[in-house]
Amino acid sequence: MFENLSEKLQRSFKNLRGEGTISDENISEALREIRLALLESDVNLAVVDELIEHIRTRAVGSQVATALSPTEQIVKIVHDELVNVLGRDTARFKFSSQPPSVILMAGLQGSGKTTTTAKLAQWLKKGGHRPMLVSVDVYRPAAREQLKVVAQSISAQLYEGHLDVKGAGTDEVLRLAREAKREAANYGCDILIVDTAGRNHIDAELMDEMAALKKLLNPSEILFVADAMTGQDAVNSAKAFNDHLTITGAILTKMDGDARGGAALSIRHVTGAPIKFLGTGEKPDAFEAFHPDRIVGRIMG
Ligand code: GDP
Repeated sequence: MFENLSEKLQRSFKNLRGEGTISDENISEALREIRLALLESDVNLAVVDELIEHIRTRAVGSQVATALSPTEQIVKIVHDELVNVLGRDTARFKFSSQPPSVILMAGLQGSGKTTTTAKLAQWLKKGGHRPMLVSVDVYRPAAREQLKVVAQSISAQLYEGHLDVKGAGTDEVLRLAREAKREAANYGCDILIVDTAGRNHIDAELMDEMAALKKLLNPSEILFVADAMTGQDAVNSAKAFNDHLTITGAILTKMDGDARGGAALSIRHVTGAPIKFLGTGEKPDAFEAFHPDRIVGRIMG
């Protein structure tokens, strides 16, 4: 479907062979190709333009090393610049000094938040932790039931709690969260992962509720879950969540689809928060720590 960027560059550089240096003129076509490829990969426009300028500055006037063809040289520069944007932070977690550490999961409905909550629990369990899960989506019983089912499938502790029949609202959300944190401490769980209510769109109510949860729970991590297939929309919601909550990391789901993963660059760029994991399927173990090199390889083809 997508033409391989390295091949495109090969084409645009066929005239360059033998010239010895990469100049302003002969790089223009290559930069156009790079720009297009990045946009096709869902990297947002502002990020693309900034990257292109970095690449131009580094490339123009650089001597073509004898060991590398001009194309190889540009490919290397593009590769390095993309990795720079993504950063080299790995999937490390901050923990609070007083257990349980709280991980607050944020994201829109359908992004894969509940599935990812379970995947993360499984990953932490493998790392020797004892996570407890809670869903504070008091608005959708099906969401709480879904978390219960996945928690059972991975044998993770779940705080179910009881909903007050008087109705669902932020007070209920906070009550459940408070109880879950206490319960996690009682059970000797060192981590509480809180699956929050998702909405179809971002609204003030959702953000206020998230902010109230943050204030109550003092989470050591606030992870934004985004569906990689939604490209630019994922970037916009990342920005909105980050503006309100200051996220500490992001997880891109559905990377088993044909999304090129440019959203990773954009999310990193607009929020400053590292991408920590990728979701690569529906099963709890379809989850991997984020490696910038792999996404860059995927974008460049
Ligand atoms: P939530 O509304 O954000 O909690 O989203 P869910 O966890 O319910 O996920 C929505 C749909 O996406 C479900 O059908 C999941 O099985 C699916 N899903 C979640 N993560 C992935 C992933 O990494 N790959 C694929 N292929 N599907 C996923």
